[in-house]
Amino acid sequence: MSSGDYRSYDYLGLDRTPPAELAPEFDRVPAYDGGFDTATIARAEALLAENITISLHDHPVLFPADMSDTPAYNRTGRQHTAFNGLAASGLTVVFDNMMNGTACVTGNAPWQWDDVVTDLGMRQADLAHQSRVVVIKTVADIRAAHAEGTVGLVFGLEAATPINNDIEKLDVLHGLGLRQIGIAYSDSNALGSGLNEPTDGGLTNLGRKAVARMNRLGLAIDVSHSSDLTGIQTCAVSDRPVFMTHAGARAIWDIPRLKSDAALKAIAETGGVIGMSAAPHTTISKAHPKHSILSVMDHFMYCLDLVGIDHVGFGPDTLYGDHVGLHTTFAGLLNKDAIAAGPEHELVPYVDGLENPTENFHNIAAWLVREGFSDEEIIKVLGGNILRALEEIWV
Ligand SMILES: [Zn+2]
Repeated sequence: MSSGDYRSYDYLGLDRTPPAELAPEFDRVPAYDGGFDTATIARAEALLAENITISLHDHPVLFPADMSDTPAYNRTGRQHTAFNGLAASGLTVVFDNMMNGTACVTGNAPWQWDDVVTDLGMRQADLAHQSRVVVIKTVADIRAAHAEGTVGLVFGLEAATPINNDIEKLDVLHGLGLRQIGIAYSDSNALGSGLNEPTDGGLTNLGRKAVARMNRLGLAIDVSHSSDLTGIQTCAVSDRPVFMTHAGARAIWDIPRLKSDAALKAIAETGGVIGMSAAPHTTISKAHPKHSILSVMDHFMYCLDLVGIDHVGFGPDTLYGDHVGLHTTFAGLLNKDAIAAGPEHELVPYVDGLENPTENFHNIAAWLVREGFSDEEIIKVLGGNILRALEEIWV
């Protein structure tokens, strides 16, 4: 089935019903009113249509309308791809971090090896029954998706935790279609320290071997949830560009989830890219303490000044559903201690302007146009920088 009305797991027939009502793909929250004029929107939309645009980190799937149903939904392995939302996103490619691979961070749903393999296979079985969304494994796949007007998903994991001490499992994951992987999540694993650790042990010996194998495999490395030292040491030993797929600058908002100048600079020195995150209550700024696209852009401008236009992009870390509610359901993800220790800010129900994968890049492109960036600069940050790095990584 390839028609435009395919919904995830329709190939099952009547058995496709998910265990819970799912969030809508459109209009869950009011549209962002950025005050962009007609000419700004027209130029932004032309730039999106004509160029390869890449989100370095999102979860482009439908979550349950009531987020407390998420653990049961995830246990089915059948996350539902947002085909219609993606078709309207202006995106060529989304790095899709599936069920995360974070393993045990919450205690609610310990995603282990079998779960990750199940998710990788289940998602691809679904995608194989339609043609609007394709699985990306090479740079040539990205160019083909753009030429054909389809949307591509790059499968990734937020951390390598499910491989335990077995480097060979990286080969297996690559063979199953995975093309991006984090070193550690907020809790440490056998490869290195996560960002929550009171003592930063950096990259382990096993982690160094894993980085070498990731380089050889052509598996893109992410250090978004790794500790500063783990990230810096990963960059030092990797002979390919390294990504920080979804993060922000600690100099702008001082919480452990965001990154030191040294960690941000280390990414740029590899030829890699920092993707600005918009996960609720992370990339806030003193100028915009109510989290919105404007707060995120304060992090973008800081990183741009720090590392240059060739090493910045966007990894909004959004999804279809109530992300704040998800943080409440999976309390470990919110990192309440870190936020409580940070500067004063106002809690929001959602991040205005960067709430879901459908709206993100329309608003980002319009903001960049209005702020006076050139076409060349906008093309780089919407996806050109990531594409350049992938040409060196996926070999
Ligand atoms: Zn994350």
